[in-house]
Amino acid sequence: MKIAWIQQSTMIDYPGKIACVVFTQWCNFRCNFCHNPECVLPEKMMLFQNDLIPEDAFFNFLRARKWLLDWVSICWWEPTLQQDLYDFAKRCKEMWFFVKLDTNGRDYQLVKRMIQDKILDYVAVDLKHSMHCYGDAVGLEQPTEFYLSFQKLLQILLESKIDYEYRTTVAKWLHTLDDVENMAVYIRGAKHYYLQNYIGGNTLDPDFWWTPFSEEELEEFKKIAERYVQHCEIRM
Ligand code: SF4
Repeated sequence: MKIAWIQQSTMIDYPGKIACVVFTQWCNFRCNFCHNPECVLPEKMMLFQNDLIPEDAFFNFLRARKWLLDWVSICWWEPTLQQDLYDFAKRCKEMWFFVKLDTNGRDYQLVKRMIQDKILDYVAVDLKHSMHCYGDAVGLEQPTEFYLSFQKLLQILLESKIDYEYRTTVAKWLHTLDDVENMAVYIRGAKHYYLQNYIGGNTLDPDFWWTPFSEEELEEFKKIAERYVQHCEIRM
């Protein structure tokens, strides 16, 4: 696993539970609003190769914090690109941690196998945009296989007993009310759908312009989305 960074503890994902977060390096998207170009662009990734955290160091850390941590959250930038994700997550599970995976939905077969083998306890899927303009939102036109995988993963999650969420980071000039409705319709029946307000910073496209949505605008998004999903919330 190419581990770019570890957040040693957080309670954001699971109120009342403590998780450590593993950030992997590499992504198949190129969102212009991405905050971590150094983990996405190959030419920038090269500069950080010596700073990657060795797996042994991570598992030593995990062993030392076993008394404190409940969850290991494997997330950004797209963990399913890591060839040994399955083994890595299995090792965490064998240490009796709950395991969460964040993914953009590119490899439903791997996620399915991990669910079937009871390695995962929670799956969070990024839903970037309405399907008809997904390529624009993620900066690269995706092959047909991506959309098929994304759809298959949705079916699997809708039918499975595992806890999961879909989430969208909404950004002005990128998303409209119609887009939010389209996305909610696409994941109709989903257990949880979280809308997150985009906050700017160091972006892949240095000229990316942003202003946050107001609370009223976000509430309007939520009202539309919750017509289609079981539970919708704005995540701050
Ligand atoms: S914001 Fe886009 S490019 Fe950046 S890590 Fe997430 S999916 Fe990849």
